[in-house]
Amino acid sequence: MTTTALQARHIEVVRDGRTILQVPELVIPAGSWTSIVGPNGAGKSTLLKVLAGLLPAHADGSGQVLLLGQALQDLRPRQRAQQLAWMGQNQSTDDLRVMDVVMLGRLPHQPWLAGPGDLDHAKVEQALQLTQAWAWRERPFSHLSAGERQRVLLARLLAVDAQVLLMDEPLTNLDPPHQADWLHLVRQLVEQGKTVVSVLHELTLALQADELLVMAQGGVTHQGPSADPQTHRALARVFDERIAIHPLAGQWVALPRF
Ligand code: ADP
Ligand code: MG
Repeated sequence: MTTTALQARHIEVVRDGRTILQVPELVIPAGSWTSIVGPNGAGKSTLLKVLAGLLPAHADGSGQVLLLGQALQDLRPRQRAQQLAWMGQNQSTDDLRVMDVVMLGRLPHQPWLAGPGDLDHAKVEQALQLTQAWAWRERPFSHLSAGERQRVLLARLLAVDAQVLLMDEPLTNLDPPHQADWLHLVRQLVEQGKTVVSVLHELTLALQADELLVMAQGGVTHQGPSADPQTHRALARVFDERIAIHPLAGQWVALPRF
């Protein structure tokens, strides 16, 4: 069994003549949950896109991302899509019904031109039930509220049934009970041996992850267990010491300093 879900080296992304991301070496352990945290503009979304293969690791071709031990560029798109599921911010889905949005997650599993089969329908229903979105299955995606859409996009991610799941700010617009549901879902996925990497601004929830990847100004400043005091110090540092982390009822809570 592979113990590393994602391994990257020599990542460098330049935009408008500015280096917006530079990560020489990165290892994301398999079967665990890693949260990426850091201020706005730190490069979190850019890193997640590189790990998903949506952006090249390096413009000159020298960078590399390994997914479960295989170079991303050596995997066929379908293979890659079966092993890695991605949920971005503000994904547009035109005017599809909720059910069809989630069925998009099954595309990598369907034989060419075959259309969805029984297993695909079953996985779509299961995913919509898990995110409590089944009741909206016939509604146009565009008619849903932002938080409801977020749950449908989460269902699409789950329907892929991939080993590695990457999520960019999955909790945005979710109410507290659904944020808690998301947390339980992630724990279940990790218990099943899956790997979850999430970009989160909700620091108290991020601190529930196994590991934190702390970012600032296009770089990774720290990676370590979320319960480690060193990780807490790194986290406070990237937020200019404007947050404090306290123990409360057996967990860590991040609070702004006023
Ligand atoms: P984060 O997700 O941590 O908030 P991003 O990865 O989205 O940050 O962006 C990192 C930095 O790169 C930001 O300063 C952003 O403005 C810049 N950036 C991202 N995408 C582009 C782009 N396509 N063109 C120019 N600048 C970009
Ligand atoms: Mg972002």
